[in-house]
Amino acid sequence: MTSDNVFLKIIERKIPARIEFEDERCLAFHDINPQAPVHVLIIPKKVIPAHTDLADEDIELLGHLHLVARRLAEKMGLHRGYRLVLNCGPDGGQTVPHLHMHLLGGRSFHWPPG
Ligand code: 5GP
Repeated sequence: MTSDNVFLKIIERKIPARIEFEDERCLAFHDINPQAPVHVLIIPKKVIPAHTDLADEDIELLGHLHLVARRLAEKMGLHRGYRLVLNCGPDGGQTVPHLHMHLLGGRSFHWPPG
């Protein structure tokens, strides 16, 4: 179930992660399998399994996640740009059922994505 996903365990400090930022609403930590020199996951502490589960009441939380991503990108020196990715569902490539945004940077990315 959603309350048992690996990201909740990271929030609860039941498993370790390289945490880059935390506040009362979110946590940002380095991906265990980085796809770029900078690969940080930004997650809400609120349990939202996927993008399809977002509700009207989450509008401020989503804005907050984006502002945290912008500040982290600046702090981590991604002055040439970066990519934000949010995978949803099996076709979207989502593997962890807890909403998360990937902040990727430190190299050039291609388009369209694979
Ligand atoms: P998704 O494919 O769901 O969009 O992304 C899930 C991401 O979580 C993957 O990039 C994967 O490497 C990362 N991940 C999975 N398990 C762990 C973990 O235990 N610790 C950390 N730091 N990242 C994880």
